[in-house]
Amino acid sequence: MHSLFNKTAMYSGFKDYLTGQLNEIQEAGLYKNERIIVSPQGPFIMLDTGQEVLNFCANNYLGLSNSGELIRAAGEALKSHGYGMSSVRFICGTTDLHKELERKIAQFFSTEDTILYAACFDANGGVFEPLLTSEDAIISDALNHASIIDGVRLCKAKRYRYENSDMEDLETQLQLAQEQRFRLIVTDGVFSMDGNVAPMDEIYRLAQKYDAMVMVDECHSAGVVGKSGRGVTELFDLGGKIEIITGTLGKAFGGAIGGFTTGKREIIEMLRQRSRPYLFSNAIPPFVAAAGIRMIDMMTETNVLQDKLHWNSEYFISRMTGAGFDIKPTRSAICAVMLYDARLSQDFAARLLKEGIYVIGFYYPVVPKDLARIRVQISAAHEKDHLDKAIDAFTKVGRELGVIK
Ligand SMILES: *Cc1c(COP(=O)(O)O)cnc(C)c1O
Repeated sequence: MHSLFNKTAMYSGFKDYLTGQLNEIQEAGLYKNERIIVSPQGPFIMLDTGQEVLNFCANNYLGLSNSGELIRAAGEALKSHGYGMSSVRFICGTTDLHKELERKIAQFFSTEDTILYAACFDANGGVFEPLLTSEDAIISDALNHASIIDGVRLCKAKRYRYENSDMEDLETQLQLAQEQRFRLIVTDGVFSMDGNVAPMDEIYRLAQKYDAMVMVDECHSAGVVGKSGRGVTELFDLGGKIEIITGTLGKAFGGAIGGFTTGKREIIEMLRQRSRPYLFSNAIPPFVAAAGIRMIDMMTETNVLQDKLHWNSEYFISRMTGAGFDIKPTRSAICAVMLYDARLSQDFAARLLKEGIYVIGFYYPVVPKDLARIRVQISAAHEKDHLDKAIDAFTKVGRELGVIK
């Protein structure tokens, strides 16, 4: 009786505590509300309010989220392989489809082998701890994705941090890390808030000079960057030279779910033995693997989607710059329209929604204070008139809010 009473009392205290914290988040203007979509993800989406809007905030870079070809491939696998695996990979969660997708991803990136995960968050969370010990060093870009930061935390290797894409700082950190046994430099391929591409040529040169390995997270660059969408290793002609690449099936590559680590054979083999999110979490459903196989085949057969995405991105950025907007330099499909003020970025996004353009304002703590912006994500699913409509709406609202003349 006593413990039951105490338990209730404890939750009432905790409830007050959480309510207070939630109120603070609300008052700071940092509370995240989710809009509800009642249609497939595409260039247009239908909201539960009945409003149909042009979508510029999905990671649907190649427009494959509602691809007929992927739906067909997934549907066939639902019939041949069923719905779920009900198992981790090493017990009874590996099908021929999982193995084929792993092979195809390795071929696509010119690597030796691939291991699939439920998400790239897991791939990054499970990559460091099995490979490196306290004798080793991880040298990580300050703006790397949260999942890399978490993965590094789980590993005992000594940590070094360099300022975003700052090669002088990277060199300094590499010098500091010379005492360690093995060194691994880790970077995002494309940084999601600015859309900037990591200078992989310089990173690779420094890695050679200071005897380090390199890992790149291609989540925002795979399918997007490089003539055929093979990511930053293609852009910098480093195919086959990077030890570890991680990526997601949840963005350009179909947008469903799933992540992967691809790279040197022995690294992947060790991850299969020791990587905790792989050993202790379910296998991706076979129909997702089947759609992934079809997706890689499509990307290998032709560059039409990649070409269209590149054309769309260049067109949008050049016209927005021409209209007077302050755009972060980018070679990706992410276009950061700088507004600097948090409130302005929220008002701007709300006004754009009224014009039928769905974008999100980003402000502190997601980006540094006074660097608020609207992030626009371009897709191969956008037609030129979609882009024109967005540019016109940006221009109209930009003039109304005094952002441009
Ligand atoms: C989205 C993203 C991830 C996480 O990928 P999921 O497959 O959605 O878990 C990891 N790293 C980077 C850089 C990302 O942008």
